[in-house]
Amino acid sequence: MLLQEELNELRAKDLYRSLRTLKPIDSTHASCDGRELLLFCGNDYLGLSHHRRVIDAAKKAAEYSGVGAGAARLISGTSDLHTEFEEKIARFKNKQRALVFSAGYLANLGVLTALAGEKDLILLDKLCHASLIDGARLSGAALRVFPHKNYQKGEEILQASAELRRRILVTDSIFSMDGDLADLAELVRLKEKYDCLLVVDDAHGTGVLGLNGRGAAEDENLEEKIDVMTGTLSKTLGCLGGFAAASEDIIDYLINTSRPFIFATALPPMICAGALEALHIIEELPELRYQLWRNIQRMHSGLAASGFETGPIQSPIFPVGIGSEKEALEISEQLLNQGILVPAVRYPTVPKGKARLRVTVSAAHSDEEIERFIGALALCRQNR
Ligand code: PMP
Repeated sequence: MLLQEELNELRAKDLYRSLRTLKPIDSTHASCDGRELLLFCGNDYLGLSHHRRVIDAAKKAAEYSGVGAGAARLISGTSDLHTEFEEKIARFKNKQRALVFSAGYLANLGVLTALAGEKDLILLDKLCHASLIDGARLSGAALRVFPHKNYQKGEEILQASAELRRRILVTDSIFSMDGDLADLAELVRLKEKYDCLLVVDDAHGTGVLGLNGRGAAEDENLEEKIDVMTGTLSKTLGCLGGFAAASEDIIDYLINTSRPFIFATALPPMICAGALEALHIIEELPELRYQLWRNIQRMHSGLAASGFETGPIQSPIFPVGIGSEKEALEISEQLLNQGILVPAVRYPTVPKGKARLRVTVSAAHSDEEIERFIGALALCRQNR
């Protein structure tokens, strides 16, 4: 089939995607075609991408380290700023050591392809992020999926695979499109009972969950039980890049065998400086996280009061289920007409027929902006 025909097919199925160019204003506002938009779709949950201290730290680092790293990490691309950030994130995650990758996507790809091969099994929750699924596929390991949070089914697969060399249990901490939480205690139980490795992608939990913002495992005192914690510098840390935090041995193994680590140019040192400052802010200014949780509360009660289906309060991610791709696109367009940007999330990001608006809230949103968003969404529903 010609590419054009395939694209036309995507259009016909309301699955076609195109880029929208924005002029950033701050972490929750941008302009598009001269018009200011309010954003309820990003992952910059504390607004740190535009925090003065983060910007200044990155600028200052750029002055002496340049903009790009110039080489891969094992050549000449490991700067003092990489090492400083890695030491800091390892302490923050309560792990012996950490390693930075050029993207969160690459961290997940890098961990799974290095730790598993043909003789192994990777067992994932059905709603794991695409980077974990892609990493599992690329590793060559047997890939099994259990229904979302159905740990009993997961256990059955473990019972039937005892002969394999290594088994890796994989989950998101906060599921990126649904906003709900994995049951880490249950996963730790399975890992211990069946002697598996447990990999948790804490991309959306880092800086958001836990008494000190250290992530999903902090609350439950499970940090030490999780073998590899991955995450990104691109969400709550407001920068770019990914990390894996684990034991000394695992990190050493990744440095020596993880192809997405070895063969990609190092993250710019200025980005490490920005992310390092973001971690300092998370530790020094817990009030930012408290503000995020007040906004989560406000969004949750506002949506519920307007009759939208909401589960328990769990995270800054609120999926507003629509179903049909066409309708999701229409509602997103109607919101845009009211100056609010929430793109429709469609297949293959979510299953076919389960299109939704993935609404996210940030500490940087004001009360009035959250009210305005809920009012606008309610109006879209009235017009349906
Ligand atoms: N894991 C999860 C759960 C994510 O939501 C994302 C980003 N969409 C990633 C990994 C990839 O991170 P990055 O955007 O930093 O590559």
